[in-house]
Amino acid sequence: MKNIIIFGAPGSGKGTYSDEIVKRYNMGHISTGDVLRAEIKGGTELGKTAKSYIDQGQLLPDSLMIDILAKTYDAMPTGQGVIFDGFPRTIAQAEALKQMLAERKHDMGVMVELIVDEETLLARLLNRAIEQGRADDNEETIKKRFAVYHAQTEPLAEWFEKEGMRHTFTWKGDKDVMLGEIFAYLDTLK
Ligand code: AMP
Repeated sequence: MKNIIIFGAPGSGKGTYSDEIVKRYNMGHISTGDVLRAEIKGGTELGKTAKSYIDQGQLLPDSLMIDILAKTYDAMPTGQGVIFDGFPRTIAQAEALKQMLAERKHDMGVMVELIVDEETLLARLLNRAIEQGRADDNEETIKKRFAVYHAQTEPLAEWFEKEGMRHTFTWKGDKDVMLGEIFAYLDTLK
């Protein structure tokens, strides 16, 4: 399978759909949020830095994230295709990803955008707070993450559009319907 960038607001289901895509197409999966949470759990210096940003609902600096992404990517088995979940989140990160993959003679692949209304996003994140206890899933931090998403990440959709990579899927109230639409598209790439 080609590389896939899964894109959407906090709570849009990037992690959930990534897991399903990974199972179906036997791909690698990089979730930058998971990488950072593992560092926090391990009590590393990077974890301490990450926590100060995550708890505020802010993005980590691009240079740091680009470095983390390249290291994680280079540690993955090659040839299977990778799903990028939570990266890129800024135009600078997208440009860096493009360059990193070009240097390795790998293709950027496609971008899968999940469009979900804000009421559903908020309900999901508050529910996840109860189920998974993520520290940044409280109402105050969620509002900040939405604001950061609109200001810094959403404009990237246009960047992908210009690259001819953007494929949009809109939530219509049912996970299996959404997943079916995503699979129908990805099956055409195999
Ligand atoms: P996520 O699990 O993808 O929602 O990420 C949780 C938090 O980790 C985000 O709110 C950011 O603080 C941080 N984070 C994850 N990925 C990135 C990234 N690509 N750039 C900057 N910060 C990130």
